[in-house]
Amino acid sequence: NDGPLMFVSMPAVSGIRWGTIVAKLDLRSVERRISISQVALIGAGFGLTLTIAIALFVSLSLMVIGPVRVLARTAAKLQSGDLSTRVRIRSSDELGKLAHAFNNMASDLQTYTHSLEEKVRERSAEIEEKNHVLEDLNLRLQEAVKELERQALSDALTGIYNRRYFNEVIATETQRSERSEHPLTLLMIDVDHFKQFNDTHGHPAGDTVLIDVARLLNENLRSTDVVARYGGEEFVALLLDTDADAGFAAAEKLRSSIEEFSFEGEETQPLGTLSISVGVASFPLDTDHAAALVRYADEALYQAKEQGRNRVAVWKRPKENSEPALATKP
Ligand code: GH3
Ligand code: MG
Ligand code: MG
Repeated sequence: NDGPLMFVSMPAVSGIRWGTIVAKLDLRSVERRISISQVALIGAGFGLTLTIAIALFVSLSLMVIGPVRVLARTAAKLQSGDLSTRVRIRSSDELGKLAHAFNNMASDLQTYTHSLEEKVRERSAEIEEKNHVLEDLNLRLQEAVKELERQALSDALTGIYNRRYFNEVIATETQRSERSEHPLTLLMIDVDHFKQFNDTHGHPAGDTVLIDVARLLNENLRSTDVVARYGGEEFVALLLDTDADAGFAAAEKLRSSIEEFSFEGEETQPLGTLSISVGVASFPLDTDHAAALVRYADEALYQAKEQGRNRVAVWKRPKENSEPALATKP
């Protein structure tokens, strides 16, 4: 037993006897009690602190963190485009003031955005209207351009293609024909004794004849063939994918259709009928040059005239030391 000890002595008197009472106290149990008390005290203090901290946290949450979170959520909604969103914090403290300011700002933003949207709508409507006007103008412009192009390429009297267009077509078609190795045939067509018709019936009656001739040429050829007024009473027809034999047949069809058509006043013509002569040249049989093709067809036409008119002549390569082209009539 070597723990701390406490000795207590006190005098005792009984009658004549006297003595001293000595008490020996072991302090270990006292110390144990003190330490138990200390632990209890620390525990109680800790518990109290924890309770106060929790209470503080709860009240702080209710008063500050909650409203701040509401503000943050509302701000996020506002940012994502919901401009009608508002904060519902009724308190009159600083947070309440902040919420009020926030709501005012949101209202301003909403009003501003609405007016902006309204302006954009108005402007869009204006722009759309102007676009319609522009589209309409553009359409009319395109039509006018097309009409101008058509006029630039067509003959004013007969409405068929003019010489300018024909020159373009013969250039591109001879090139295409060269590549594809498909033949082309060119017909050079001239109204016979047309000066006499004019002299007898007048220029306007002559014009009517030219219009009818142009229509008959178009009607008696395929839609892929190109018929043009070459000048005066002269026409050309470029027959695509057509060799010399088929070209001759087409020319003969044209010649007979004009011969058979009843032109007013034609009985006064030297042949008793209004007629055409046709010269035929083929590509690449006769030549592989566009200019030579026209020249050869013209030479063949001259032969047809020489041989009596109202006939078709096919260009023939002149034999050496002989006459050039040969005119024929079926
Ligand atoms: P050929 O049989 O040899 O072709 O004789 P032609 O009288 O037809 O030939 P010529 O070249 O002597 O006369 C052509 C005539 O065509 C003369 C001209 O007044 C007439 N002519 C040319 N263009 C027009 C036109 O646009 N309208 C009218 N009415 N006549 C035209
Ligand atoms: Mg003529
Ligand atoms: Mg002529």
